[in-house]
Amino acid sequence: MIEKDEMREIETLIDQMTLEEKAALCVGASQWTTAAIERLDIPSMYVSDGPHGVRRVVDERDLSQKSLPATCFPTASCAAATWNTALIHRMGQAMAEEALAQDVDVLLGPGVNIKRTPLNGRNFEYYSEDPFLSGKMGISLIDGIQSRGVGTSLKHFTANNQEFQRLVISAEVDERTLREIYLRAFEMAVKEAKPWTVMCAYNKLNGTYCSEHRQLLVDILKKEWGFEGLVVSDWGAVHDRVASLKGGLDLEMPGPQDHRVRAVMGAIRSGELEPGMLDDAVRRILRVVFTAQRTQKTGDFDQTAHHQLAREIAAEGMVLLKNDGLLPIRDTARVAVIGHSAQTPYYQGGGSSHINPTRLDIPLEALRKVAGDIEFNFALGYPAVDSFEQALIDEAVETAKLADLVLLFLALPPSKESEGYDRLDLSLTAHQLALIESLSETGKRIAVVLNSGSAVTMQPWLEKINALLQGWMMGQAGAAALADILFGRVNPSGKLAETFPLRLEDTPAFINFPGDAGKVHYGEGMYVGYRYYDARKIPVQFPFGFGLSYTTFEYSHLQVPESFTDIDGLTLSLDVTNTGNVAGQETVQVYVHDQEASLSRPFKELKGFAKVQLNPGETRTVSIPLDFRAFAFYHPKYRTWITEDGSFDLLVGASAEDIRLTATVELSSTLKLPCLLDWESTLREWLTDPRGYQAIKPVLEEMQARFADVLGGEEGLGVDAMGTIMDMPLTTILLWQRAEFTRPVEEIVDDLLNQAHAMDQ
Ligand code: BGC
Repeated sequence: MIEKDEMREIETLIDQMTLEEKAALCVGASQWTTAAIERLDIPSMYVSDGPHGVRRVVDERDLSQKSLPATCFPTASCAAATWNTALIHRMGQAMAEEALAQDVDVLLGPGVNIKRTPLNGRNFEYYSEDPFLSGKMGISLIDGIQSRGVGTSLKHFTANNQEFQRLVISAEVDERTLREIYLRAFEMAVKEAKPWTVMCAYNKLNGTYCSEHRQLLVDILKKEWGFEGLVVSDWGAVHDRVASLKGGLDLEMPGPQDHRVRAVMGAIRSGELEPGMLDDAVRRILRVVFTAQRTQKTGDFDQTAHHQLAREIAAEGMVLLKNDGLLPIRDTARVAVIGHSAQTPYYQGGGSSHINPTRLDIPLEALRKVAGDIEFNFALGYPAVDSFEQALIDEAVETAKLADLVLLFLALPPSKESEGYDRLDLSLTAHQLALIESLSETGKRIAVVLNSGSAVTMQPWLEKINALLQGWMMGQAGAAALADILFGRVNPSGKLAETFPLRLEDTPAFINFPGDAGKVHYGEGMYVGYRYYDARKIPVQFPFGFGLSYTTFEYSHLQVPESFTDIDGLTLSLDVTNTGNVAGQETVQVYVHDQEASLSRPFKELKGFAKVQLNPGETRTVSIPLDFRAFAFYHPKYRTWITEDGSFDLLVGASAEDIRLTATVELSSTLKLPCLLDWESTLREWLTDPRGYQAIKPVLEEMQARFADVLGGEEGLGVDAMGTIMDMPLTTILLWQRAEFTRPVEEIVDDLLNQAHAMDQ
């Protein structure tokens, strides 16, 4: 980010700054700017939301927060469903061009929080239930934006998975779950894409505000992952400026807040805050400010080209969930277009990500443009808000009766999902459900276009319709993209980045959401999304990774090395053939299944994917690399990611449930893990650790000889003695037999522990 000379200049500046200047730099100067220090030529820096367009607010005093026109790209749910990292990279570049044209230094996004539950009102701003996919998408967007000299803010760090009490609730998450699920996408993005800034979440993590969480912000983010940028607060997430500086939060936003500046100055003077901590925050802020200053904020952006890009992303992100052959629409003279959202598109979510679009495609008009010779008759079908008007249903039925087929546009009303509140259920409105019912009674064939930012439940209406296209919050050009897909100009290739469950009650966090008494327990642990449905064998409506196409693909010739080491990883390859009649794109997904591990692991986890474009009849070889982390898990006792020798199945599929090819590979771990045996270690743990086994072997043999009768049979208490003692601490087992030993048991165990640990050296 910054050269050596500049680092020296920054150090000189820090030496020249007064305490007040330093403290003032660490709090915003306004809603969107950092403080400038004219005396030292330190410029101010301008930040804007994020994450799917530039929200450059015109006048921050204006309560409506109106922003300059910018391209409203599809929201993250849609972007993730493209599974197309190159495309998201282009989206980032385009957003950066708009930022430059609007004098914006840093864009506040992307958000890589995990979709723990489809109820989270803000899921539309997040990518996936899967950390690997979220991480890859985040990396692409950051790389795209930063490649043009505009900064990003990776948010919201971390465990920000609900809107209910989002400013105060404590997410209670165990360490392994944190590492493998809620930190993983952040880790990938920080290490690979180096965002200029990371935004801390509003919520608490295990009792401490993320804005004050030293373990999170300093130990993990800055020290372990090597993050060199600045940590900014979410807007208003700071409660105690001094505590947050100690916790590693560099920049508080928004400002000005003079009392915070004074608090920091007071804490330095009283000795409560080490000057080095303040200097570190100042250094990080200056680094980003000067990096930003290097990029000239000029130019215009090509609105038409960006609108076209938004259309491309929307088309690739839409997921064809059901199709009995109705789509693409052909040989049709009259179509009934029904639904409020055909006229008033539902294309983005409410809250801080809300973009003022440069233009807006309307589905009904887009349909007419694409298929001019067809007669489209429109009926509103349902009201804008969640209320009930039977007359709208009656009118829609009459319109449907006159048509060859029905295109039904359904969208969640904003009251059902937004930043600021969670969803109360996963269903459509009662009005929309009644509308589907009545339309299905006409006997007409129905294609539904669904606009929602997250999963919707579809029972029992899914059986009553013929086709279903998930259109998400599709951005300003989404309507044109819809028309492209419905009429076969574009072959759908989106795949779900989140599971669509059958029922809300089936979802992983159901009994632990949204929490109460100030806490939400992540009781499902690592078992989020498909990891949960796999483990519980719960059927779902549409699995993670699922999406139909107008063509078909065949997978063959999976090639893998038989064995490999963790540090080398491996690259698998396979052939994908387009076996249908139209060109299309397929996303191949690789899931890894560990046949045996010392800790519990999800049945399978996504560790690689690739999207490939194929003409009819064409075959391409796809290669997908799998690295150390593809096989590793976080071990809370070693407090690091470890691999273990053994067999892994590589499951190559078109979705989490449609595994087409499988191969087994043998991993040799290169890790030399320290011996973990201690006073509490059980007999099983002693036996499975090779050092422990060697140490206790003689004792064990002696015990076995002496107690052959008891250990071998079911005498005495009527239990399998060996079964009972296997998971008891060795110390306890020996204590029971203390009469047999000439030395105190404590001494024996101490000796054994010393012997085992000595083998580490
Ligand atoms: C949101 C952030 C956003 C910030 C600035 C907060 O309320 O949580 O995502 O970047 O406001 O608008």
